[in-house]
Amino acid sequence: MSLEGFKDLLPEITDVNAPYWEGLNAGEVRLQTCGSCSARQHPSESFCYACGSTDIAWKPSTGEGEIYSFIEVHQLYNAAFKDHLPYVVAIVQLDDGPRILGAMLGLDGEPEIGARVKPAIKQVDDERAVLTFELA
Ligand SMILES: [Zn+2]
Repeated sequence: MSLEGFKDLLPEITDVNAPYWEGLNAGEVRLQTCGSCSARQHPSESFCYACGSTDIAWKPSTGEGEIYSFIEVHQLYNAAFKDHLPYVVAIVQLDDGPRILGAMLGLDGEPEIGARVKPAIKQVDDERAVLTFELA
């Protein structure tokens, strides 16, 4: 299925978030990790959400976890998703990090809360990739 149109939905790459997007392009989920309190966070910021430290490093994540919550979308809100209806938007509790939002495309029915998921990084074009999830 085409991911054409997804690029227009992606946030601008900034100094703060560039490592996240570079990681996806390399096929890897990367999360910020605080050098002071070890908290891991997403989305990226120039300081730690937990303690305010600016000692932030990027480290790989397995991207694996379980579905904390989800919605199944049947309404076409954006033309980029026209080939994907219905699709799931899940809040995933990562095993090694925070909760993170991601689409689940091509599921056959609704997933279950607590279902194990793994990252399914999809290339949008030569420059950008997006994080989606699939059942593990
Ligand atoms: Zn911290």
